[in-house]
Amino acid sequence: MQELLISFVYGLGLMGIAGISYGVIHRWTRDSTIKSMLIGMVFGVIAILAMVNPINLADGIILDARAVIVGLASAFGGLPATIVSGLLVGQFRMYLGGSGAVPGAVGILLSAGLGFAWHWFILSKSPVTIRQLLGLGALLSLHSVTLLMLPLSLAQELFSTVVPVLTVSCIVGALVMGLIIDRERRYIRTEKFWRETAETDSLTGLPNRRSFMDRVMLEPYPGKTRQYGAVMLIDIDHFKKVNDTLGHDAGDIALRRVADALFTTADGQDFVCRLGGEEFAVYLEHTALDGIHDRAEDYRAAIERQLIRYGKKTIPLTVSIGVAYWCDALETDIIDVLQRADAALYSAKASGRNRVAISGEHLANQTVSA
Ligand code: GH3
Ligand code: MG
Ligand code: MG
Repeated sequence: MQELLISFVYGLGLMGIAGISYGVIHRWTRDSTIKSMLIGMVFGVIAILAMVNPINLADGIILDARAVIVGLASAFGGLPATIVSGLLVGQFRMYLGGSGAVPGAVGILLSAGLGFAWHWFILSKSPVTIRQLLGLGALLSLHSVTLLMLPLSLAQELFSTVVPVLTVSCIVGALVMGLIIDRERRYIRTEKFWRETAETDSLTGLPNRRSFMDRVMLEPYPGKTRQYGAVMLIDIDHFKKVNDTLGHDAGDIALRRVADALFTTADGQDFVCRLGGEEFAVYLEHTALDGIHDRAEDYRAAIERQLIRYGKKTIPLTVSIGVAYWCDALETDIIDVLQRADAALYSAKASGRNRVAISGEHLANQTVSA
């Protein structure tokens, strides 16, 4: 009895570890394929640990959590997890050998397949319901049909002894482990929501100053792989007039439209954010030095072209842009780059607005008339 209790706690402990590792893997990498493969690998190893220490229910009746763990890897991890865990654990069952090796391995593959079917047809973004998890357990218990591959008399015996226990354990296991994993999923989603909220400007939906600073500070800098880059500071010209003449609401609409135009111009290449007020910034990662001026001109011209309507009125807007670039040779830091961009912006404003000014060793304070 004591042995049974210890084995039971061992099985539950393994399921708990699998649930927690699901959360750790999700936080560790953003790549969904790597995530899924890692889930398959870790759950596979945990299923193997379950197999080497099974629960001895009675003489000859041995139970382990492999089907549930492999099934849950597929159910919550997706296709790569299904393949990795199925093959890993199936292979291990073949390695253990014995007359039950082939049915055992086929049963494991079947559990993986059934788990994936549940993933495909049932798993949604909403919290998983208890009924769905009970259904998953019942589905996974179907893997015991592979016992029919054994000699008929043995299969008959197993069906009257092992299969009922296996079915109950699959249902209870899927429920317990599914609830643990689903709790992790909800935590991950909540964390993601708050992280995105903290990094997003609520008026325009662009990344905010915090996000921009994190981005430029965290990038390898000066980078080994990227030897050059640039920061643009973009400030709307005479924006106060919009508020003063048309009101704050019109100003807000104009800010949103400017943000949209900058975002569209970035076209997924550059990192655009709203620093605050009527100031925006763009971090250019993959633009060569000689392309920086053209890129800045694209942004300036996009705002000048933009027709911003407020009721029957059109709000004409222009921006001034200060650009600072860096390359390895400069051996400078990002704060210095931002200060140089700010000085360039100041010079663009001072020399008439609606223009680009580039600060840099080779193009010091070059201004370009619009
Ligand atoms: P300059 O060409 O020199 O940049 O002139 P400017 O009028 O754009 O600059 P200034 O700094 O004098 O004014 C910025 C204005 O931006 C003041 C403020 O009312 C407005 N502003 C800042 N944030 C917001 C916002 O979220 N919504 C609205 N509607 N206005 C804002
Ligand atoms: Mg300003
Ligand atoms: Mg301004």
